[in-house]
Amino acid sequence: MPNDGPVILSVANQKGGVGKTTTSINLGAALAARGQSVLIVDLDPQGNASTGLGVALDDRIVTTYDLLIEEAKLQDVAQITDFPNLVIAPATTDLSSVDIELGKSEGRILRLKNAFSGAAIEAFDYVIIDCPPSLNLLTLNAFVASTAVLVPLQTEFFALEGLSQLLLTVRDVRDGANPALRIDGVVLTMYDKRNNLCIQVENDARENLGDLVYRTVIPRNVRLSEAPSFAQPVLNYDPNSRGAIAYKSLASEMLKRHEG
Ligand code: ADP
Ligand code: MG
Repeated sequence: MPNDGPVILSVANQKGGVGKTTTSINLGAALAARGQSVLIVDLDPQGNASTGLGVALDDRIVTTYDLLIEEAKLQDVAQITDFPNLVIAPATTDLSSVDIELGKSEGRILRLKNAFSGAAIEAFDYVIIDCPPSLNLLTLNAFVASTAVLVPLQTEFFALEGLSQLLLTVRDVRDGANPALRIDGVVLTMYDKRNNLCIQVENDARENLGDLVYRTVIPRNVRLSEAPSFAQPVLNYDPNSRGAIAYKSLASEMLKRHEG
């Protein structure tokens, strides 16, 4: 099979707290456990993906801010983690000034794409960009640099509300800087099968979005919320937890989709 370069996924939803970072870390770890070479790009000023993978603040010397603003090289930003096949480009709160610093400058949405244009990116099978909870310049940079967008959707009332705006933004980017951008899929998160509302939201999502919705759903599982404070993906923190099993299943489903 020809090498088309890495799959570059923006994990995006402008709502906060829907499971973007949890999905970035744990899907990334599950793909890495399947032998894929994975880079996680932390593009949220909160830096939760960096923290969750054990990169201390003191160790965030060259960050995704430098990638976007200082034209730092990807190989100088990416750091190995304690987990095999899993590399991270960390973030700090510096990122929050990117919108203002880039202002209306020409090429402001091409910064991340340019940073990905060297040979270093080819070392990876999967690049997973953890986006901030906003459709801002950071997220636009992620969309322009990506092959596809993965949308975590929290299974609660209103879950589908913000989706049309997100899909419109994807369409704008496709009409402009990145015609090849696809929607990879939607993954339902924080699912509670005892809750009728969850089942209803799931049915709604599958009815409206069809095969875009992954068969795998991510359950609400306390192990997933505990793991980051131990600076570990849930696969390491508690490999037999329902959260770990779900993210392994999501990785399998994704690999199968991308093969076919
Ligand atoms: P986002 O990145 O979209 O803001 P997070 O991934 O940080 O969302 O998740 C928000 C909070 O919910 C975090 O405290 C996280 O640990 C917790 N969380 C995420 N997914 C789950 C889940 N499936 N079960 C239980 N807690 C979860
Ligand atoms: Mg987050």
